[in-house]
Amino acid sequence: MKFLSTNDPAASASLSDALLSGAAPDGGLYFPEDFPEVDFTGFKGRGLSGRAQRLLTPFFDGDALAPRLGAFCEAAFAWPVPVCEPNSAGDYWTLELFHGPTGAFKDHGARFLREALDALGDDADPFTVLVATSGDTGGAVGAAFEGAERARAVILFPKGRVSPFQRHQLTCWGDGVTALEVEGDFDDCQRLVKQAFADRDLSRAARLTSANSINLGRLLPQMAYFASAAFDVLENTGQTPGFIIPTGNMGNAVACLWARASGAPVGEVVIAANANRALPDYFETGKYAPRPSAATLANAMDVGDPSNFARFVQQNRLGEGVSAVSVADDAIKARIRAEFETKARILCPHTAVGAEAFARLDAARKSAPWVVAATAHPYKFRETVEPLIGEAITPPPAFEAIFGRKSEAKPIAAELSALAQALESGQ
Ligand SMILES: *Cc1c(COP(=O)(O)O)cnc(C)c1O
Repeated sequence: MKFLSTNDPAASASLSDALLSGAAPDGGLYFPEDFPEVDFTGFKGRGLSGRAQRLLTPFFDGDALAPRLGAFCEAAFAWPVPVCEPNSAGDYWTLELFHGPTGAFKDHGARFLREALDALGDDADPFTVLVATSGDTGGAVGAAFEGAERARAVILFPKGRVSPFQRHQLTCWGDGVTALEVEGDFDDCQRLVKQAFADRDLSRAARLTSANSINLGRLLPQMAYFASAAFDVLENTGQTPGFIIPTGNMGNAVACLWARASGAPVGEVVIAANANRALPDYFETGKYAPRPSAATLANAMDVGDPSNFARFVQQNRLGEGVSAVSVADDAIKARIRAEFETKARILCPHTAVGAEAFARLDAARKSAPWVVAATAHPYKFRETVEPLIGEAITPPPAFEAIFGRKSEAKPIAAELSALAQALESGQ
């Protein structure tokens, strides 16, 4: 299998090269040259990691990493991913993607990528995974790369702009993971990361690579939980389910559409955005207008120019039966309250965007089963959720391991020279 660049489909890369480089050299994003029809009858009787292996085998075909795929899937799906039944008729199924070490779906992709980089790397000269984060990505990458043998992780986050729990979750990892607390905002962190990648000497010396959702190593495993959930709901109901996906950079949404293109029984797909309307406006007007991001309660989705949009438009066939909605903060709050009061369900603000998108479907569309992707554990956003439901949220057991840890961050100025120094000092 070859992977093509969205900027120049004549430029292709092997899976290993695509995983290592993140973006293509021409600045495009890699996508698979075609979608194999996967035989889903083999799904029955397999757990998620076995299903993931079956689904992803064709994408690893011919690559040096192919013999390791089984081990990657075991690591990426080492915790449960329940597909919870509706509470009543007219309710949705919930795909709970938040039982990993840091309580967000990004744990799956980050673990998968860590295994891949560990397999591709070199003991004497490790890769450096460099990420800027405003929340969930950094924690997932830190948890995944702790103890990696051939890769280390450097996480940049903006000082004073993440919640206390988020800060702890970014700064509590040791053994090859460094958190840099930047004197600046999230845009400064992103700018520094871009500048570091653009600096050829620095980028080569540190063997920089990225772990955001432009990297195939995150998107490919995410296909598996959508395919698996679709299969289970079809088995259970006899109907092909639609999916509602809380969306920021469109990584999860594209992964779901790739699963469908590979034959998974996924029906309609609804992209559920917060007040950042680039995608809903595109579906309404046919024109794509990127814009600066606006802050919302679902902050991991505060994206004004979704990076995976390039993949979506490049592959025409993905767009069939896809629509988008925008859910503003007031509706997020009302939905969190309503789900708690009527169903005793506690949603994070991102998942609430999906639940609200479900509530807005008309009756005809609701005759099919729908699955809402629950992207984060509500405890992570308890400052928002607890006042709405009037109750304290119990942290998931996986977080106990995080609370007891020591936190350590290194302050740096928002300048490339400061980042370069931190990278060189090997911290
Ligand atoms: C990252 C994130 C999203 C958005 O996912 P994309 O793949 O960027 O669309 C949604 N919810 C949560 C909790 C996240 O952390």
